[in-house]
Amino acid sequence: MSFLSSRLPTPYRPEAEVLSQRLAALSGALDWALAAQAAEPWVRAVRRHPPPFWAMESLLKEYPISSAEGLALMRLAEALLRVPDAETAVALTADQLGRADFEGGSDSALARLSAGAIALSKKFLPQAEAGAAPPGLLARLGARGVVAATLRAVQLLGRQFVLGQTIGDALDEARAARRQTPGLRLSYDMLGEGARTEADALRYLASYTAAIQAIAREAQAQGPVEQNDGISIKLSALHPRYEDAQHARVMAELVPRVWTLCELAARANLNLTIDAEEVDRLELSLDVLEALAARVAREHPRWQGFGLALQAYQTRALELVHQVAAIARRHRLRFMCRLVKGAYWDAEIKRAQELGLPHYPVFTRKHHTDVSYLACARALLEAPDAIYPQFATHNAGTIAAILQMAGPQAAFELQRLHGMGEGVYRELLQDPRIRCRVYAPVGRHRDLLAYLVRRLLENGANSSFVHQLADASVGLAELLASPLAQAGACRGSGLPLPAALYGPGRENSAGLDLTVPGMRAPLLAAHARTAVPAVAPFDAAHTEAAVARAVAAWPAWRQTPVAQRAASLRRAADELQAQLPRFCALLVKEAFKTWGDAVAEVREAIDFLRYYANEAERIMRPQALPGVTGETNALRLGGRGAWACISPWNFPLAIFTGQVAAALATGNTVLAKPAEQTPGVALEAVALLHAAGVPADALQLLHGPGETVGAALVAQPEIAGVVFTGSTQVARVIQRALAAKDGPIVPLIAETGGINAMLVDSSALPEQVADAVMQSAFRSAGQRCSALRLLCVHEGIADGVIEMIRGAARELVAGDPADLATDLGPVIDRAAFDGIQAHLRRLEAEAKPLLAQSGKAGEAMNLIAPQAFEVAAIEQVRQEIFGPVLQIVRWQGDPLAVIHRINQLGYGLTLGIQTRIDSRAQALAAAARVGNVYVNRNTIGAVVGVQPFGGEGLSGTGPKAGGPHYLYRFCAEQTLTINTAAAGGNAALLAAMGAAPPATGDTSRHEA
Ligand SMILES: Cc1cc2nc3c(=O)[nH]c(=O)nc-3n(C[C@H](O)[C@H](O)[C@H](O)COP(=O)(O)OP(=O)(O)OC[C@H]3O[C@@H](n4cnc5c(N)ncnc54)[C@H](O)[C@@H]3O)c2cc1C
Repeated sequence: MSFLSSRLPTPYRPEAEVLSQRLAALSGALDWALAAQAAEPWVRAVRRHPPPFWAMESLLKEYPISSAEGLALMRLAEALLRVPDAETAVALTADQLGRADFEGGSDSALARLSAGAIALSKKFLPQAEAGAAPPGLLARLGARGVVAATLRAVQLLGRQFVLGQTIGDALDEARAARRQTPGLRLSYDMLGEGARTEADALRYLASYTAAIQAIAREAQAQGPVEQNDGISIKLSALHPRYEDAQHARVMAELVPRVWTLCELAARANLNLTIDAEEVDRLELSLDVLEALAARVAREHPRWQGFGLALQAYQTRALELVHQVAAIARRHRLRFMCRLVKGAYWDAEIKRAQELGLPHYPVFTRKHHTDVSYLACARALLEAPDAIYPQFATHNAGTIAAILQMAGPQAAFELQRLHGMGEGVYRELLQDPRIRCRVYAPVGRHRDLLAYLVRRLLENGANSSFVHQLADASVGLAELLASPLAQAGACRGSGLPLPAALYGPGRENSAGLDLTVPGMRAPLLAAHARTAVPAVAPFDAAHTEAAVARAVAAWPAWRQTPVAQRAASLRRAADELQAQLPRFCALLVKEAFKTWGDAVAEVREAIDFLRYYANEAERIMRPQALPGVTGETNALRLGGRGAWACISPWNFPLAIFTGQVAAALATGNTVLAKPAEQTPGVALEAVALLHAAGVPADALQLLHGPGETVGAALVAQPEIAGVVFTGSTQVARVIQRALAAKDGPIVPLIAETGGINAMLVDSSALPEQVADAVMQSAFRSAGQRCSALRLLCVHEGIADGVIEMIRGAARELVAGDPADLATDLGPVIDRAAFDGIQAHLRRLEAEAKPLLAQSGKAGEAMNLIAPQAFEVAAIEQVRQEIFGPVLQIVRWQGDPLAVIHRINQLGYGLTLGIQTRIDSRAQALAAAARVGNVYVNRNTIGAVVGVQPFGGEGLSGTGPKAGGPHYLYRFCAEQTLTINTAAAGGNAALLAAMGAAPPATGDTSRHEA
């Protein structure tokens, strides 16, 4: 259903408006002062018995995550346990501990932590080598000792949050806990990252299945389901492509998989909860829920244990509650609904900023989330026929408010995470009527890292209730302040909206969220009605005349005030923004871009127009220079003349517009030659610029082959400069043609390709590497100059990483770019297809193929499925293959040596580094001779004004496009010196000195 229409309103609505509705929904429901009064004794009691020093709260109080020490702790916790080799573990520990002040005395936290860690590890981890002496500081212990102590410390941190390493251990722990607290219920969670491969998904399915079977053995098959333990599952663990774009696959493949778990849970009378994940999966999760609910209704209509988690931080949360109740009623079921505030707040904010969305999908002030939580709680309590509410929170104020709203009759339970909120719940559960369930993660230490970091962030955030509770300096009034009153006073967004990311001087381009039906509908409509225009080929014989026109138009354009030229570009940007769907459709049709790539490209073009407009105004202001009295000196920049702008097919709008806008903004006229494959997009871009005020002769489009039209253009004596993006070979041809000409020596800006590498050390997270590789190597079918060509993986993790990359690559869909499910469209034409095939045949002979060859299936459309090969040495990778072809090499030893070998290849465009060792990332970046280095992310999608783009060596001349130095290369400089005393004397000096005699010096010469 969500693929065609939405069940929910758009996630992107003005926050203040939504908040007002939430406050209205709560009207008359709650007396906060009474709730605060009820919570006060719990808080006082917890503060009287503070947690032990190794408890998370204590640790984060001493070293908040905003401090270097807290950050170091979090980074270590995230990475250390998975590092397989001692060398990297030592480097990681030294790096993180070195940048923080854990020392300072034997009673420092590290010393205490290490001492506690080792003492406890003796007890809990008998297999571990426990140091004999109590550990002290780095110097006393030596590197390996510190690593061992830190490892223990991190494992102990992890233990706080994990009930057991296996479901069997966890059930034993639960039995023991129930002896203390008889009514205790648990919801088990099998830890791990989301599945990237089918094999991962099947492994998680097996693990959930085994867990349900084990839990079932201890459950009561009859009686209320609420009294049994349950399980929480993540849909992202059960399918490698649990994404809105793969809707059909998800419904066909994931739903049956989840059904097998539902069936087991239904038979055993267990609570099965679908965890809440990212905002962009919400509508999809409802479709999955509804499909499963229909089947539950048919096959297990009496099962009341099925349900899901709902995140109150989403601005759509209240509508979501109503939707879920409607689904339950439609199928005559009762769901168990866990209300949480939400665990991915930071990631949601970043995504909205990256995509340039109109609003945030989550609230941006903590008290807004609290208000939303209460409004949702009320709605859940008001639907007892359809919903059994489960309120998951550690916040004493929130809990007291819920108890008040629920009253004595309502059926519901409270929930907390294992290892969190124990103090408050210890107090609460003295009331035997209160039911509580604990969310209990189960997994090996290695699997808990991401979960641990989420909890560290949650506990460490200044706004977090648990954090404030542990901080005695936060008074009770502040701790239990009314979110309703705060929201009444402050309703707007707590963060600048994505459009305002670059400040008041430059509006960010607006993007779309393709998972929102209302946002993708205009794209699909545009696709249906947009035709790629035919473009008349330019006759190379007319080149001289075209250049003459451009030269004739130059003086007027040059003398047009820069503000006016900039205004034309800004008008074009606004118009492009308004026509984004049409330009996206053109890109899909003419350049075979996928929709995601098309939106990103139009946005980049808009950003170029606005950025260069600003930059031209900034740099073209005459600059007064200091000098002697009696003269003025000013440095001024002006256009050089008529430029040839030669752009490629892989970014037919963004690079085309960027080159043209840079030349125009600086007062040059332009002869633009687009790639032969994509003249239609260029024609439309030129029309847009003309309509925005650029004179026809100041910008001419010359469509034709590079060998004739391009060559003729470059050869013209009157051409004042050439800006070219394309292959290194063609850049050389142009360079030689320019050098062969008599007359002025003109500048050439060349942006060419690269053998872009990514170095992965053994501290990297394989899942993050796999994601970065899929995007960098295969997005746009590898047809980006920034695309990843050579992956260098540390031997210690290579087998696992390569396996994950193979599995993830198999899940990518190559097909029609107009289909939203497509990840890779066709390569640009038959020549490109044949060229890549020739490379593949060579690699099959020279290297070890890692993925099955694409065969003939996609040949008619020039489709090439992702390809990967393992090669023996970096030096074997000699040429850039402009397609979805990745070469992988293993390395060991010194990572700097790997960078030196990459440097030797001669290219220098992008480099990816995946490591958790910050100092290593810095050192490798400094040694790399490349233009753009990306650490722990993908290597594509440079943003204008944020990641200026361009390389060195065989990869280009610079300056970087979208950077502050780019426009200078388009300008001629002029210094204007005027002798202001030429008329016989220095009137200004005399006037300034007039009344009072100068303080120093002899004035007699002037007077004579
Ligand atoms: C049993 C259980 C199951 C859970 N399952 C899930 C799940 O399936 N999916 C999931 O996402 N989370 C889940 N969580 C995690 C849950 O989201 C967090 O534990 C919860 O947000 C902490 O809320 P609190 O009321 O305890 O703390 P509080 O300190 O009162 O609230 C903290 C929360 O407020 C929100 N917040 C923080 N800063 C801001 C801000 N500036 N603007 C707006 N909001 C802000 C965040 O959501 C943050 O987590 C679960 C938690 C429990 C207890």
